[in-house]
Amino acid sequence: MINTKDSSYLEMAYGLAEKAKGWASPNPYVGAVIVRGGTIIGHGFHERPGQPHAEAIALERAGRLARGSSLYVTLEPCVHWGRTPPCVEAVIRAAPKRVVVSSLDPNPIVFQKGVRRLRAAGIDVTVGLLGERNSVLNESYIKYITRGVPFVTLKAALSLDGRMATRTGDSRWISSPETRDYVHLLRGEHDAIMVGIGTILKDDPRLTVRHPQWTGKKIVRIILDSALRLPVQARILTTLAEGQVLVFTMNRASYRKRAALEKRGVEVIAISGQSRPIEAPEVMARLGERGIASLLVEGGSRLLTTMIEEKLADKLFLTVSPRLIGGETAPSILEGEGVRLVRRSWRLRKVSAFPIGDDIIIQGYF
Ligand SMILES: [Zn+2]
Repeated sequence: MINTKDSSYLEMAYGLAEKAKGWASPNPYVGAVIVRGGTIIGHGFHERPGQPHAEAIALERAGRLARGSSLYVTLEPCVHWGRTPPCVEAVIRAAPKRVVVSSLDPNPIVFQKGVRRLRAAGIDVTVGLLGERNSVLNESYIKYITRGVPFVTLKAALSLDGRMATRTGDSRWISSPETRDYVHLLRGEHDAIMVGIGTILKDDPRLTVRHPQWTGKKIVRIILDSALRLPVQARILTTLAEGQVLVFTMNRASYRKRAALEKRGVEVIAISGQSRPIEAPEVMARLGERGIASLLVEGGSRLLTTMIEEKLADKLFLTVSPRLIGGETAPSILEGEGVRLVRRSWRLRKVSAFPIGDDIIIQGYF
């Protein structure tokens, strides 16, 4: 039986789960609240990989009072031994009367098994309330755990006429300082950032997360560089303490250059195949194997075009600033021939927009 209080306790659990955003990945963001006689007797969220799960923390806090209580958890309790023991067994031992699970865990080794196990132990289980919140909060986890590749967001700063830079390649700065600050906030939510080598050669960016909310956050920086043109003096290589730098290249790239970059602390991964650019689907698979669940692709235009045309992108995040740049050769996020008919164009779904000063932030899903 569902009552209105269930929604508010689950909302609380989601509020806790959100605190893990950008930190717990590649694990899901999960929160839990335990209630007995209208009083919250335990709460928790899964903070980082390797640390206790949300239910385990909440049960620990509740102690013996958990017997006969109601447990609210945003995601189905796990049934497997990972770096921590299965939560479902801890829940059964604590013997709550009722468990309210917002969403089933899409992880095939957990899916439905957690709920089934709880029911088999005689616990009253309710599933599905506010499940759509989990679909948004854990969008990266859901793709990563079911398909083994990261959830990909494309990000670009555009002028009002859709240019990412002028015809000379100048792009500093199209968006306002406030918008750029917001983009750093967004960066921190991801496991990794990826750019093409052209962006490094042109702008020499550090690609770090510079925002007070993300102090101590390490983010993996990925560069697609088929001919290993990454300079050993590139600024990004001075920031290895803030996150690893991975360079994807081709098998035939210079061995000497590769050794020089590795000496600087870069990890170089060679992908087989003759075609240029580097096979992006292969890169996605390799990133998935390394536990990268969410990826922010920041350009340049050629890489963004590849990600769109090869259907590797899940989400688009654009900042649009009130400037007109013009120029037939000024880059846009989708290059190439383009579609012939409007009905063949890429149409985004679930679009939302909001202003930051004079800029507009637009996001949507492919
Ligand atoms: Zn668990």
